[in-house]
Amino acid sequence: MDRLSSDDRMMGEALAEAAAALQEGVFPVGAVLAKGTDILGRARKTMASNHLSHAEMNLFHKVFMGDYRFSRADGLTLYTTLEPCVMCFGTLLHLPIVRLVFAMEDAYGGCASVTLNGAPPRHAARPVAIAGGVRRDEARALFASFLDTTAEPFWREGGAPHFQTAVRGEPVEISGVVP
Ligand SMILES: [Zn+2]
Repeated sequence: MDRLSSDDRMMGEALAEAAAALQEGVFPVGAVLAKGTDILGRARKTMASNHLSHAEMNLFHKVFMGDYRFSRADGLTLYTTLEPCVMCFGTLLHLPIVRLVFAMEDAYGGCASVTLNGAPPRHAARPVAIAGGVRRDEARALFASFLDTTAEPFWREGGAPHFQTAVRGEPVEISGVVP
């Protein structure tokens, strides 16, 4: 299986998690951690309006608790249906993950395209390869369904306007991200 089809398959697993979140009335983000073609863990955002239980954080808590033995040599890849926020991206940089693949960009709060100018040595020496746009349309459709059905005031009152415009509008160019 080549990398492209493997990425598509893994993102399919993350999209399934996102769809389950949508069924639970939660902002539909799903995440999967993979070592090659092996899935090490999967999770989704839980609890609407919980600002810490993002899909990635839930996943990290599952996989990286206790005496884990992963290192950057394991080539771990994080798949997520939405470009990570500052909390999740920062945690990703702290963990032995060497690659990030996401589906839809978050023009409001996504941090994957943030350049770590002047990063301290630890992070300067541990680059993460990033690819966006994998199965974007399917992720976008889940977000559109959420916006159509949610009762959360934040979304109904137009919170995250850049993101909502992207969900409703034409595909937008992903800048600063290596495909
Ligand atoms: Zn996050």
